[in-house]
Amino acid sequence: MLDIRIERTQTPKEKPTDESKLGFGHIFTDHMFIMNYDTGEGWHDARIVPYGDLTLSPAAMCLHYGQEIFEGLKAYRTADGSIQLFRPDENYKRMNVSCDRMVIPQLNEEDCIQATKVLVEMEKDWVPHSEGTSLYIRPFIIATDPYVGVRPADHYLFMIILSPSGAYYSTGLNPVKIYVEKQYVRAVRGGTGFAKTAANYAISLKGQAEAHEQDYEQVLWLDGVEQKYVEEVGSMNIFFVIDGEVITPKLTGSVLPGITRKSALEICKKKGYKVSERRISIEEIAKAYDEGKLDEVFGTGTAAVISPVGHLKWGDKIMTINNNEIGPISQMLYDTMTGIQWGKLPDEFGWVCKVCEG
Ligand SMILES: *Cc1c(COP(=O)(O)O)cnc(C)c1O
Repeated sequence: MLDIRIERTQTPKEKPTDESKLGFGHIFTDHMFIMNYDTGEGWHDARIVPYGDLTLSPAAMCLHYGQEIFEGLKAYRTADGSIQLFRPDENYKRMNVSCDRMVIPQLNEEDCIQATKVLVEMEKDWVPHSEGTSLYIRPFIIATDPYVGVRPADHYLFMIILSPSGAYYSTGLNPVKIYVEKQYVRAVRGGTGFAKTAANYAISLKGQAEAHEQDYEQVLWLDGVEQKYVEEVGSMNIFFVIDGEVITPKLTGSVLPGITRKSALEICKKKGYKVSERRISIEEIAKAYDEGKLDEVFGTGTAAVISPVGHLKWGDKIMTINNNEIGPISQMLYDTMTGIQWGKLPDEFGWVCKVCEG
């Protein structure tokens, strides 16, 4: 058990009253969790303190060489007012995998879950009430040594901040338009694609910006070696339903192992769908489309849960999927997953982690 020192704010903020205007990632709660790491001492000094700015040396190593990792999960309010998390053990397991890749010291996963629960319970009044809303949880670690040489740091901060977030789909599950990125790549074999680290996002911004200029919302990344096999979308994993088979690219090191992806696979298997994790080329997808066998395409991620793809552009070819409407498997996955997350369906997989009763 982590011994967490708690310092409460003397100046609590106004909570947002209009939950339809929450959006994503702008508002932060009254408190945050912090823990330090120093070589020789390990992780220590776990505390919850008033939310506020950090003091960092301008030479702090994270600012120069990107030694940083993060996670993203949510707390949900159920109909009886209790608060729950979805598979937080998976997030902290993945966080340690990211840490290992970025040479950041490992954390005790149980301690991290405890810290999350204590912080979320303290901030429970910040978990919004409206349909589809949640409290976004952002754990992250930065290297703080004031040193501009390149080496793994000796000093780190692990923090958790919380942000009330609006309903992702305020106007129904609208399909997104994505295009296949032909110029830039996001990750390469042996690189950091499987780690949730800032650099993977920094290098994706240029492709994303060019997609926006062409009125597409996201890009679909191909593998970094041959630019032939499909990998994933911005911050979502990708699924294809071809001739009734549910297919997602397998985890070869350059794809982020999404927890929503994993959960979608488990649900599909349990419901008896034919499921494959394998390499899938963009040619195979275009061919399936031409043969009328590309039934559904959707992304998976914590933010949107399931994001149906309505238009997929590859060069000059524009594929309109399922008449630009959400398909039956996408809808089933969305209903099952959100049902479990907001406590409307029984948790037959044991994925829910209760924070507090209502
Ligand atoms: C976080 C993330 C995902 C989705 O992971 P979830 O655990 O399902 O939220 C997918 N791709 C990338 C690049 C990500 O960073």
